[in-house]
Amino acid sequence: MTYLVDTHSHLNHDKFPDVSETLERAAAEGVEYVLVPGWDLPSSEKAVELAERFRGVYAAVGYHPHDASKADDSSLRQIADMSSHEKVVAIGEIGLDYHYNLSPPETQKRIFEAQIEIAKSVKLPVSIHNRESDQDLMEILDRQVRNEWVLPRRFDYQIRLQPRGVLHSFNSGYDMARRATGLGFYLGISGMITFGKSGESDLQKVVASIEPEFFLAETDAPYLAPVPHRGKTNEPAFVPHIVAKIAELQGLTAEDIGRITSYNAYKLFGIGEKPAPKIAYQIRDSLYLNLTLRCDADCIFCDRKGEAMVKGHNLHIEKEPTSEELIREIGDPKQFKEIVFCGYGEPTIRLEIVKKVARYVKENGGMTRLDTDGHGNIINHRDILPEVKGLIDAVSISLNSTDPAEYAKLMGTPNGKQWESMIEFAREAKDYIPRIYMSVVGVDGLDVESTKEFVEKKIGTEFRFRPLF
Ligand SMILES: [Zn+2]
Repeated sequence: MTYLVDTHSHLNHDKFPDVSETLERAAAEGVEYVLVPGWDLPSSEKAVELAERFRGVYAAVGYHPHDASKADDSSLRQIADMSSHEKVVAIGEIGLDYHYNLSPPETQKRIFEAQIEIAKSVKLPVSIHNRESDQDLMEILDRQVRNEWVLPRRFDYQIRLQPRGVLHSFNSGYDMARRATGLGFYLGISGMITFGKSGESDLQKVVASIEPEFFLAETDAPYLAPVPHRGKTNEPAFVPHIVAKIAELQGLTAEDIGRITSYNAYKLFGIGEKPAPKIAYQIRDSLYLNLTLRCDADCIFCDRKGEAMVKGHNLHIEKEPTSEELIREIGDPKQFKEIVFCGYGEPTIRLEIVKKVARYVKENGGMTRLDTDGHGNIINHRDILPEVKGLIDAVSISLNSTDPAEYAKLMGTPNGKQWESMIEFAREAKDYIPRIYMSVVGVDGLDVESTKEFVEKKIGTEFRFRPLF
């Protein structure tokens, strides 16, 4: 099991007289890191003290909207000074709360923006509290993002979307979730996700329909304890209940969601570590083989040359695996639903390895799938389909576009033959492979319905829509 991160937990609250015991209970549940946010100056100082005392604790410093009227120039300067501490990884929690209006809304907005300015100048992400203030919050974030809000690329990879912070304990609607993630904000999923009949609360519906690459797990302890601890004092040890519920809503395993959310915490806050590259990786109950990073195409949406992460797995291999190494990783293929030849590169570039490993899987009672761009015949200068007959049970071909010119632009394949070759490959594959899917990736401007019709009527294979992540 991979480690878990509680990205919002007030261990600086009076409810936690013995933090070391609380952390021990968390560690016993796999929760190795806890981010403790302040809500005013003393609680921010306490968060930093805890971060200094405990290896797995990190701090955020800032004024909560409830306490906004207590903030002045001098205390904000102190927040800025504290942010240079090596274990302060965010400015927070800051934001707006129009439910209680414990500070006047105008003051809340002013102090919120002043702290975003601090975050920008010290190049730290923000942890945002938002209650009944969606509209003002988005107006501020929109304007602030347009006005130079760039964090350093702290790590050894490129990122597709500049992450700027998190809307902690997210509890708004789908549109808000889309807008916020589009501006580079993660969604902190708290124990509220476990409330109500499964799949029926508004929050559960939102979490079911947003990509997990945008989620962070958090307890918001001592508040909002998840089911089955509802009503008790919440604590970091309860993170697994939240992760399990997200997994259920997403149709993934708790292991998958734990890995993905922990990696997201690493990306945003630098907490934890980037996982080591893998030649074989599991998602749900399938095993994916990472054969190569090489590809004959150069799709504009592909992150092969960037961070090359898939569902919290690092695919950035230094050396291509041998068939022996892959077979060792598989072990008994019957323990998996299917063995998928996949990765960020194009597997048919290593056709001989695909054939060898697929033969092993078939001889040992497993199922195989090939995920390909459909250029295998061009790459290998021959018709490869007869060679994989009986070895590959299913093939998934990236169609990407029904228009050859657009395809060439998307795929970075200017010579123009690839589209026709891919279509021919798909049609011919029906004679050699039991199941064929053609897929498109969800990029802007794609007409999913007409593409589906093209695949089903003109080519006669199954259609699959793949979200960008
Ligand atoms: Zn909080």
